[in-house]
Amino acid sequence: MIVFLEFCRGGNVGLKLGAVEVHGSLSEWLLKHLPFVEGAAAVTLGHVIVGCDQACLDQSRTHEQVHVKQYERWGPFFLPAYFTSSLVAKLRGKDPYLDNRFELEAYGTSD
Ligand SMILES: [Zn+2]
Repeated sequence: MIVFLEFCRGGNVGLKLGAVEVHGSLSEWLLKHLPFVEGAAAVTLGHVIVGCDQACLDQSRTHEQVHVKQYERWGPFFLPAYFTSSLVAKLRGKDPYLDNRFELEAYGTSD
């Protein structure tokens, strides 16, 4: 949906490493205002990576590609598992984002 809307609005849509990368004014707005992703440079939704701009996509590609692989591995269970991991981290007094097991893997800091 966002790919189609961004394309129609004159945004940029491309294919890199098996994922659709999109950026434009709608993507930028979403990344600034949507709960859970606000302030992020990019976010992955399945095989779609939404970035603030091309520089954000270029800088976060390695990280977001790990999330693409996680989506492939977990399928429809990815988002529930992701949020459960954040909840577990928070209940343990840790950071729900930085100590999320999926983020640890994406940052290359998991065990
Ligand atoms: Zn991430």
